[in-house]
Amino acid sequence: MRQLRRENRMSEKRIEKIRCPKCGGEHEFTIWNRINTELDPDLREKVISGELFRTVCPSCGQTIDVIYPCLYHQMGDKFMIYYAPGQEAMRQAVEAFREGTEEIGIKRGSGPDEEGYTYRVVGSLYDLQEKIAIFEAGLDDRVIEICKVYIGSELQESQKTADFDDLRYYRDQNGHDRIALMKEGNAFASSVFPRDLYKGISEHYKALIERHGGETVIDMNWVMNSVSEEEKKQ
Ligand SMILES: [Zn+2]
Repeated sequence: MRQLRRENRMSEKRIEKIRCPKCGGEHEFTIWNRINTELDPDLREKVISGELFRTVCPSCGQTIDVIYPCLYHQMGDKFMIYYAPGQEAMRQAVEAFREGTEEIGIKRGSGPDEEGYTYRVVGSLYDLQEKIAIFEAGLDDRVIEICKVYIGSELQESQKTADFDDLRYYRDQNGHDRIALMKEGNAFASSVFPRDLYKGISEHYKALIERHGGETVIDMNWVMNSVSEEEKKQ
C-alpha cells in the first residue's frame, strides 16, 4: 500500500472576497480546493446540493455561482475527482493525475485502477455531482456514458421534438436509477434508466472499455473517440 502524504489527506480551504455582480458589494466566502469526505462528511452534502460553489450576497440577496477548481476525494468509495473548470484547467488536471503529482497527493505507477481507485477529471459541477452519484451507486461511468449515447439517440428518434442538450444519470429518493433530460444545465424531464441496457452495454463493450477505459476524462467525447478508434482497427 502506498502512503498518501498526511497533508494531502486533509481538506484544504481558504477565504476569498467575492464581489457581487449586481450591487458591487463584497463579502467573504470559503473556497475548498481539496475535500476529503472522510474527514469532513458534511462537505459531500454541500457538493451534492451545490452549496459549496454558491453564495448569496448579504447586501442585495443576489445568488452568485462561484467557480473554482476542487479535488474531491471520497476514500470510502475509493474515488477521486478533480473538478477543473475550463479546458486548460482540465488539461492540467489530466496531466497531474497522469504524473501523480504532489498536488494530487499520490505517486502512481501503472493504471487508474491501482488499489481499485477510480480517478476522474470533470469540467463542471454538474459532471462532478453526476460522477459522485454513479460511483456511490457502484456503477461504471464508462458504461453509463455509452448508455447515454444509446438513450439519447432513441429519444431523438421516438420524440422528434425532444429538445435536450445533455442527459444525466441520477438516483431518485426511492433509490431508483433515472436519466434526466437537460437543457442548458436544467433538468426538465426524466425517464427510468434501464438496468438491462446497462448490463447489455457493459457486456457488449467490455473489450472497448478495457482498451480505452484508462482515461480520466469519461464523457460523450470519450465514447465517440473510443468507438471510432475501434472502427479504425476493423
Ligand atoms: Zn449584491
